Amino acid sequence: MTDALGPQTRSFLAAPRPFLAGAAWAEGAGAPITGIDPATGAAFGTAHAAGIADLDRAAEAASQAFADKRWRGKTPAERQRILLRIAELIERDAQLLAELETLNGGKPFGAALHGEVAHSAETFRYYAGWVTKIDGGTFSPSLPGQSFLGYGIREPIGVAGLITPWNGPLALAAWKLAPALAAGCSAILKPSELTPFTTLHLAALALEAGVPEGVISVLPGIGRELGAAMVRHPLIAKISFTGSTAVGRQLMADASAGLKRLSLELGGKSPVLIFADADLPQAIAGAADAIFGNAGQVCVAGSRLYVERSALDEVVAGIAAHAAALRLGSGFAPDTQMGPLISAAHRQSVHGHVERAQAAGAQVATGGAMRDGPGFFYEPTILTGVDQNSEIVRQEVFGPVLTVIPFDDEADALRLANDSDYGLAASIWTRDVGRAHRVAADIQAGIVWVNSHGFPELAMPIGGMKQSGHGREHGFAGLEAFTEFKSVMVRTL
Ligand code: NAD
Repeated sequence: MTDALGPQTRSFLAAPRPFLAGAAWAEGAGAPITGIDPATGAAFGTAHAAGIADLDRAAEAASQAFADKRWRGKTPAERQRILLRIAELIERDAQLLAELETLNGGKPFGAALHGEVAHSAETFRYYAGWVTKIDGGTFSPSLPGQSFLGYGIREPIGVAGLITPWNGPLALAAWKLAPALAAGCSAILKPSELTPFTTLHLAALALEAGVPEGVISVLPGIGRELGAAMVRHPLIAKISFTGSTAVGRQLMADASAGLKRLSLELGGKSPVLIFADADLPQAIAGAADAIFGNAGQVCVAGSRLYVERSALDEVVAGIAAHAAALRLGSGFAPDTQMGPLISAAHRQSVHGHVERAQAAGAQVATGGAMRDGPGFFYEPTILTGVDQNSEIVRQEVFGPVLTVIPFDDEADALRLANDSDYGLAASIWTRDVGRAHRVAADIQAGIVWVNSHGFPELAMPIGGMKQSGHGREHGFAGLEAFTEFKSVMVRTL
């Protein structure tokens, strides 16, 4: 284990971590999950994996807690205080949580501490603010000769199943758990089998903050077994899923039998449009961050770069210079700017995409290879000479691989950007205010940044158009997704 770990993290990892199933911490009967440090390939700890019987126990406890109103029956002010307390506890244990994220996911420690962990605390604070403001509104029904008062109740949906990926384990768990709890739901959270550790600690913090026993469970386990069983479970009313489009498609099929409510935050292949009138140094730095941040393992990564032809050479040379200057290494090394990919298998998959692109005629402007030595490092890579219809431009790679295609005018840029099955995010780089608004209006993406890329804002809904998903997280939309709306009509005369 790395020397960079503090005493709290060492003690956290000293024994296999149990999981929270209903009211009890438990140890699974099956093989435990081994945590692998992607910077070295070495094992650093284990977590017990939950099985189907654990899921049944968790679902019964969650359902019972919902029925007896253990959580939703508390006053909004009490629930608000508990969510605020979770935020404080995340900050109290920020060092532990950030060390675990860096160790397990490979991201630079500063990004884990000041980015992911801080943002997770803010997410609980943001949704704490909503708890006292959930409101169904009043209506004046227009029924001739009758007098009615109508009002709406926005009630919690029931037991929510929350399924998260490995690329931002704590933040993505917070994006789901905070609004689910704010709405008054019970929740069963299944982290990725690759990164269960911080989510397990989040469960402990939620209990310490005062979330009643049984209301939440955290069950690490294999997606196609435990995750699939959650989607089919009769006691789970809703699934909120973040992950790949392929698995999202499977979930829709699995959820259809019970007509289970679904929110799907899926993959992306987000375009970055750089116009020649942009502040090019700013655009070059932004485009480099958009694809190399977290080694490209970001749902909104800007993986398709389209550049106005007259600026093409300058932009490609500029991003290549950024790539060459990036320091790859362990997230615990203070000068590291880019960590490894999550696993050997994922690195192989990323490299396979690059090899097939080269075979199809792409030129490697920089990168294109695995780094020798321990860990799962992959060079920041830029591919030019790619075809809009090629696999590398159409499929999500989820690594530090950028494709570049020139465009001739605004219409051409829009056509290329929208020619994708995905529609998660996009960025536009220009000094022309009118163009920025025109393109933002016509681009098919759930979030559009102008002269920036990738900034999350808790107050602004985010989610996918097209095959990037259904529904939105963040803002009131993120909370509404965990509610049902009930209309009540009262005859007054
Ligand atoms: P994944 O789809 O392989 O797994 C995501 C989660 O689903 C994991 O917990 C996994 O165990 C579980 N799972 C797998 N098969 C399942 C099944 N049949 N039924 C139920 N659950 C199942 O994705 P990943 O590799 O962990 O994460 C990377 C993907 O997530 C990328 O495609 C990325 O774009 C996407 N992502 C999207 C967003 C967003 O907000 N849109 C955010 C982050 C990541």
